[in-house]
Amino acid sequence: MNKIQMVDLRSQYLNMKSEIDNAIHEVIDSCAFINGPAVAAFQKDLEKYLGIKHVIPCANGTDALQVSMMALGLQPGDEVITTSFTFIATAEVIALLRLTPVLVDVDPDTFNIDPEAIEKAITPKTKAIVPVHLFGQTAPMEEIMKIASKYKLFVIEDNCQAIGADYIFSDGSLKKAGTIGQIGCTSFFPSKNLGCYGDGGAIFTDDDELAKQLRVVVNHGMAVRYYHDYVGVNSRLDSIQAAILKVKLQYLDQYAAKRRAAADFYDKAFAGNPRLRTPVRYSKSNHVFHQYTLVAKDLDRAALIAHLNSKGIPAMIYYPVPLHLQKAYIDPRYKPGDFPVTEALSDSVFSLPMHTELDNEQLACITAAVLEFVNA
Ligand SMILES: *Cc1c(COP(=O)(O)O)cnc(C)c1O
Repeated sequence: MNKIQMVDLRSQYLNMKSEIDNAIHEVIDSCAFINGPAVAAFQKDLEKYLGIKHVIPCANGTDALQVSMMALGLQPGDEVITTSFTFIATAEVIALLRLTPVLVDVDPDTFNIDPEAIEKAITPKTKAIVPVHLFGQTAPMEEIMKIASKYKLFVIEDNCQAIGADYIFSDGSLKKAGTIGQIGCTSFFPSKNLGCYGDGGAIFTDDDELAKQLRVVVNHGMAVRYYHDYVGVNSRLDSIQAAILKVKLQYLDQYAAKRRAAADFYDKAFAGNPRLRTPVRYSKSNHVFHQYTLVAKDLDRAALIAHLNSKGIPAMIYYPVPLHLQKAYIDPRYKPGDFPVTEALSDSVFSLPMHTELDNEQLACITAAVLEFVNA
């Protein structure tokens, strides 16, 4: 049996080695390392896949979020509503730009931002909502877009964990995660569902003017070379990464199917166990399982993880500390107990290995080890 890893990038690479190697060598042969044809080609493929007019590649997912807020012209003091249960990057860029992060609690089942809590948090200073499609399924976008249009707010989707997921509107129509708000952001960090071999990111929008502005911001605030109309940043996807992503994008739906199959295996093994809550599948989104995250009930989570680790099985806690309790983000507006759902989740969630190369032997080994501890 292959060694069990949280993410097995090597086996995935070996399954498409010649395609990837050729793509990389083509870029090296061309020496078009920055803004080469590979970037334009990948951009086009991703626009088609997502069904969106504009994809703006950039250097990473954190930049994608930052650049979005800059391009929308958000100003210091503007309030941006986001979830208290996410990776730090979401709140980090809000703070860096001297905007005011306004945190709201999440739904205990889906772990995603709670629309009712969003509406309660709106003030005259609110300018934008940043829902995060956590662990691979979308936030309730229809409700969020309704609130946004009622209060005239921008919506920036943090789609770093759910590229390829569909959102299902109540009229039955589908849209890809990240293409519903004014802007969608994603990351191509190696372990993401569509990961490159270094850092990468992208911004999506259907708005022509906004796309223009996003392209200006990622490129030092310049539309015409050496004429800088705005203070921008330097945020590029390099050509080698784009060439790798172009190959991997062809397999993204297959990857999602493999992740779902692994999730189904886990679900079946843990079904009905009173001490484990398997991931709740939100009816309006399919799940692309960036993570397979369980809730431990009356269970010593640390001891369970230690038990798994002792058998060579990794497990992780995403995320152990809610944003409002992170040292750098301590804020007189917030105190422990303010976001009870997030706080309870931080104390009880754990994630099992999830990737495209898990086989049944590995899955059987993982589930047996979990159940051995849980049922002891
Ligand atoms: C990974 C991630 C980011 C940041 O992406 P980077 O490419 O690492 O900068 C932002 N938000 C969420 C929810 C993420 O999972």
